[in-house]
Amino acid sequence: MDRFAYLLTEAQGLSREVLGGKGFGLVAMHRAGLPVPPAFILSTAACRRFLQEGEVPGLWEEVEAKVAALEGLTGKRFGQGEGGAPPLLVSVRSGAPVSMPGMMDTILNLGLSLEGVGALARATGNPRFAWDAFRRLLAMYGEVVLGERAEVFEERLSALKARRGVRTDAELSAEDLEELALGYLRHLEARGTPFPLDPWAQLRGAVEAVFRSWQNPRARTYRRIYGIPEDLGTAVVVQAMVFGNLGEDSGTGVGFTRNPATGEKGLYGEYLRNAQGEDVVAGVRTPEPLERLLDYAPGLYREIEAIAQLLERHFRDMQDFEFTVERGRLYLLQTRSGKRTAQAAVRIAVEMAEEGLITREEAVLRVEANALPGLLRPAVDRERAPKPFLQGLPASPGAAFGHAVFSNEAAERYAAQGLPAVLVRPETTPEDITGMYLAKGILTARGGLTSHAAVVARGLGVPAVVGAEALRVYPEEGRAVAEGVEIREGDLLTLDGGTGAVYLGAVPLVEAQGEALLAKLLAWAEPHRRLGVRANADTPLDASRARAFGAEGIGLCRTEHMFFAEERLPWVRRLILAATEEEEEAALSALFAFQKEDFKAILRAMDGLPVTVRLLDPPLHEFLPPWEELKAKAEAGDEEAQALLERAQALREQNPMLGFRGVRLLLLRPGILRMQLRALLEAAQELRQEGLDPRPEVMVPLVADPKEVERARALAEELFRVYGPIPFGTMIETPRAALLAGEIAPLVDFFSFGTNDLTQMAFGLSRDDAGKFLPRYVEEGLFPFDPTERLDEKGVGRLLRLAVEEGRRANPRLKVGLCGEHGGEARSVALVAPLLDYTSASPYRVLTARLAAAQAGLKEGVAAG
Ligand code: PEP
Ligand code: MG
Repeated sequence: MDRFAYLLTEAQGLSREVLGGKGFGLVAMHRAGLPVPPAFILSTAACRRFLQEGEVPGLWEEVEAKVAALEGLTGKRFGQGEGGAPPLLVSVRSGAPVSMPGMMDTILNLGLSLEGVGALARATGNPRFAWDAFRRLLAMYGEVVLGERAEVFEERLSALKARRGVRTDAELSAEDLEELALGYLRHLEARGTPFPLDPWAQLRGAVEAVFRSWQNPRARTYRRIYGIPEDLGTAVVVQAMVFGNLGEDSGTGVGFTRNPATGEKGLYGEYLRNAQGEDVVAGVRTPEPLERLLDYAPGLYREIEAIAQLLERHFRDMQDFEFTVERGRLYLLQTRSGKRTAQAAVRIAVEMAEEGLITREEAVLRVEANALPGLLRPAVDRERAPKPFLQGLPASPGAAFGHAVFSNEAAERYAAQGLPAVLVRPETTPEDITGMYLAKGILTARGGLTSHAAVVARGLGVPAVVGAEALRVYPEEGRAVAEGVEIREGDLLTLDGGTGAVYLGAVPLVEAQGEALLAKLLAWAEPHRRLGVRANADTPLDASRARAFGAEGIGLCRTEHMFFAEERLPWVRRLILAATEEEEEAALSALFAFQKEDFKAILRAMDGLPVTVRLLDPPLHEFLPPWEELKAKAEAGDEEAQALLERAQALREQNPMLGFRGVRLLLLRPGILRMQLRALLEAAQELRQEGLDPRPEVMVPLVADPKEVERARALAEELFRVYGPIPFGTMIETPRAALLAGEIAPLVDFFSFGTNDLTQMAFGLSRDDAGKFLPRYVEEGLFPFDPTERLDEKGVGRLLRLAVEEGRRANPRLKVGLCGEHGGEARSVALVAPLLDYTSASPYRVLTARLAAAQAGLKEGVAAG
């Protein structure tokens, strides 16, 4: 018989994939001798089976046996008070193999019935507590299992408080809570979804609801954003309840073994006195910092501190943990590797290696390379900023500036227009994930540093300020009020996620800190990197910035940007309009002077390092003013506009991206190729005369056939004969070029994969329009991820591998690089690291590429030295 349920003692040695992260952590803590309430775990296999077949053979017999075991361990009967003892109640939680905070559902106090409430009241001497436990169970169960809206329960609670004239739940009496609970019971009955008063029926309903919650939309969204596979399934943890709401000597909290925002070493966390489990995470009440325990329960604080140290030594990582104090006794309810900001990740990795807790190699592997650009996020310049108008808690560092929005829909509207938005909410729930993902910053009125908003913002790398208590948010009305100021949708706000300050309008910013630690980590990483890292840069400023980030050259210098600059555009237009050879010559020679200066500046910034210049790529009509504008001017009698309009008409294409551009344009208007290449060669010559060491390379875009390369090379050779040769290469960005790589390779010194176009053409989708449907494709599970962002291994990767192999076979001296956007995306870099000579990334992502390439090297076994 398949086995699906394990007590903590029986689960030793089972993997995280089987037990889920939560179950795995509990088993480890139990084994380390930490105080963990008795529990059993239903494996992820049970979930998968349930979702496939609708039932799991033998599961309930196993569950009954495990509950009996919990009864033995606790000396209590499930759902029934016996001999003055309180009934055994359990919590039912989901726990996927990969942490998905707040995405799945939890039910506490399960097993209570009307008789049970009485027994609990007698056993604790606290009827108020007993009814409170019951009304919480009814609300949680009502929502998660029976499908009632959470607000229905909230509204009844608020209405009761209003009738009693009290503000907080704590002011309600036992009788009030009893009335509330009975009201909930009647309500659920009336709506046709009665609450099962039988504890066993409750347990079954709850476990099945957790299984099903794997499929709920917000869990799917979270998996999509983080690339978590759909078929893992979740485990379920069933654990004996302990209570943090039995009085002032009880409470519940969340701790981190190091600060998750900054990475600073030492216990960090929050505590809510006289509160139950979810109150902290849900962010409904704002908790106090853990250090406050030092004032009134120093022994407890020391105990938590010691446990934190033990957890860290055991797991060799920064851990977060949830705990409950029941009448002065501490229990640990869960632990997992703690979510952290990019800053914290780097600091923790470096410091743990220096403490000898992990090796330097482990430190290098621990930092998510895609998060590095976030490290360089600017912060508010506190010296020069005005006084903040509002103060909250610093939940995720970095400054964010944008328009206030109050809903997912508004966040989507602003994102679609390319405008930055700051999501403002009373508190966030998993339903807000879309808005949080799209926003540049997040601001909430309630909740602490471990609330949903804070945890998710840190994971997403979005600056956030939470728990700004002076703020009142009215999402339905699209407005918020704080300190007498009304904020409406569209108003500009700046947040400082490092201090919790909120400002109206824009304020001065400063560049990011923390670079010294990053430099140290990269210094440990670099010896394992085999793949070269260059930058995509087409201005001297970008070139110097990239060089400062450690770029070893420029892998893609797009020359068209130089043509767009104000003083050049008229000449480009004259070039396009030229009716005679003389006119063309005049335009080209004016552009030549500009190009030479551009190239000199870039080669100077990259002195001693290779600079790959790509000859003109876009279709010419892109340099003309918009059609409507030309038309209006022409109609007003403007002669130049009239001429441009006619030209524009002639150049007009249905599919310009597949039209007269790239090498096609260069071959049929060779004057452009000659002008650009001569500018590059002369720029290098002049710098050499200054005693510098320029290393220009040239490549042609969009080739599809060896003949094109041959012709372009012949044109280039004419100039090489005058100025001396430089490396000549081609981009491989059409599928045909990849397929014919063996024929093309002997004609060139290098290939550079343009994976933007290669992806676009391999999929037959336009990267400019794919935004309309690609996100939905990913959401629906049709694509596992967006291939314009992360390199598609199966298709595009296959073309790439084939081209590398056949190209190298035909030309053993061939150098091979990649310069599409994927060149700065960590998983794509990892994929190509064993295959290519270099990757090329936008300047801020050079760091990501360096770290990702070193991580790939470490995994391949590239030894330091
Ligand atoms: C590419 O296609 O990958 C590339 C680098 O060129 P561009 O993005 O300029 O088309
Ligand atoms: Mg391209």
